[in-house]
Amino acid sequence: MQIGIDIGGSHIGVGIVNEQGKITTKKEINLCENFKEEINKEEKIRDMIISLIRDILKQIGAPKCVIQKIGIACPGTIQEGMAKDIYNLNIKSLSLKKELEEEFYTQVVIHNDAKCAGVAEKLYGSLQQYEDCVFLCLGTGIGGATFIGNQLLTPKINAGSEYGHMIIQKEGIPCQCGNKGCFEKYASMSAFKKGFIRYFNIGENSQAISSEAILQYLLENKNEKEIQNYIEQYIENLMLGIYNITRIMEPQAICLGGSFVYFHKILYTKLLEKLQEHKYKFRVPEIVLASLGNDAGIIGALYIE
Ligand SMILES: [Zn+2]
Repeated sequence: MQIGIDIGGSHIGVGIVNEQGKITTKKEINLCENFKEEINKEEKIRDMIISLIRDILKQIGAPKCVIQKIGIACPGTIQEGMAKDIYNLNIKSLSLKKELEEEFYTQVVIHNDAKCAGVAEKLYGSLQQYEDCVFLCLGTGIGGATFIGNQLLTPKINAGSEYGHMIIQKEGIPCQCGNKGCFEKYASMSAFKKGFIRYFNIGENSQAISSEAILQYLLENKNEKEIQNYIEQYIENLMLGIYNITRIMEPQAICLGGSFVYFHKILYTKLLEKLQEHKYKFRVPEIVLASLGNDAGIIGALYIE
């Protein structure tokens, strides 16, 4: 039996994944909004994961020894089984591999979450038919995975495909990575939400207003000039990133995932429309939406080579 784990900015998901890449049993836990500020977060995350796995085993009435492999999709930079610089959770370094191996006596692998989700979309989701393609996870930040000739691009030094930190604005908005003007400061979904709150002057706290409320508002007022301007401004930035990625990697398709999918009604059609206007002179690849949702990280964590 294989168990996949996805550590997101707002929740942790754990699931049993069968040989066809389908999740058969899943358990999730939400990380509350102030989790970021808590102390001993690393220990708490480990405890939550261990108890979620125990719950799943209990539910199906199986002992620990049936687990053949545990795969973890985790944000941040993964080096030697450790996750480093998880900005979303305000964690410098998270060790899970050794602890879970000791607890469950099995092989544990850990990889970057966007790479895992990309692998899942490539094997079982929207990217199956493309040999050269890019997965972009538009969420709190922007993660990426690149496939050339059906192979995930895995450079030796770092994981690469860090499209979120591609600089699209000289001296632009400061980013947690230490640079300014990174793509994710303009085109991630948290940038979209923060910008929305600033643009319409509805308070300071972007956490306080839910995605549901924002989507509702946008849908109800989509014909208002101000809303259209705001969306166009966001799409312009997203398009700039897509242009750069396409000129460098020449993918047949780019798959957009993360919470962007939640806003697809308002953003996806507009993006396709704008790309057809050919403001930038380039061959526009197929732009597809991710189809596995929150399950992608859990599935991909087990199949990434
Ligand atoms: Zn950056």
